[in-house]
Amino acid sequence: MRRIERRALPAWATKELRRIQDAVTAAADPAADAERRWANGPAPTTFQEIRATLTAMSGPIPRCMYCEHNEGGAIDHFYPKRAHPSRAFVWENYLWACANCNSNFKRAYDPGLPGNELINPTEEGVDPAEHLLLAPTTGRFVGRTLRGENSVAVFDLNGDRTGRTFARQRLNTLRKLQRLIVERADALRAGDVRGGEEALEIIEGEPFPCVLEYLLTLAQDPERAVVLRPGVADALAAYPLR
Ligand SMILES: [Zn+2]
Repeated sequence: MRRIERRALPAWATKELRRIQDAVTAAADPAADAERRWANGPAPTTFQEIRATLTAMSGPIPRCMYCEHNEGGAIDHFYPKRAHPSRAFVWENYLWACANCNSNFKRAYDPGLPGNELINPTEEGVDPAEHLLLAPTTGRFVGRTLRGENSVAVFDLNGDRTGRTFARQRLNTLRKLQRLIVERADALRAGDVRGGEEALEIIEGEPFPCVLEYLLTLAQDPERAVVLRPGVADALAAYPLR
């Protein structure tokens, strides 16, 4: 996971969400009312806008905000709507997630319960890197806090529960990104602007965008940059990606 800046919805969509939320809050059974309104497919244009904004927030190629592997496809309620009907139609409670993370892993897990805290990468002031350490030799996430540990377990980010190969894939992404960064710098140094742009597009579209964030942080710290391939830190210093 990596930090994701939450964008603002257009005023009309915010107003429409507030209208639905007010109706839910005023209902005799808000939890049942929220479930019913959600199941009925609420306000199509508003939710088209919500999906479009969430996917744009998730990166140049849409990525599940939790596992960062799949493109996603579902609006996740960070605080589940049955336990938290007061947040069922609140923009800040929506994240972009894949079916695995949303429907199979997280389901009704309530991060609002004491001890159940999860990382919300879009929450103001939250940096997932403070909760998760990425091991550069294995690609595994190590929880640095309870939030981090819970997130690894709930979303099976290391694949220990389901046998997925996410850790190995993150490690390979780390290797691939370093090669591409050097390749891009070589191209730009040789005046090959197109080659540089292509390399950047591949770099920014890679799965597990947290790995790129991690790499960029490492490269800026001379002591930690020693784990990177030779030339990577210099390439980034000469030709920053952003
Ligand atoms: Zn996912």
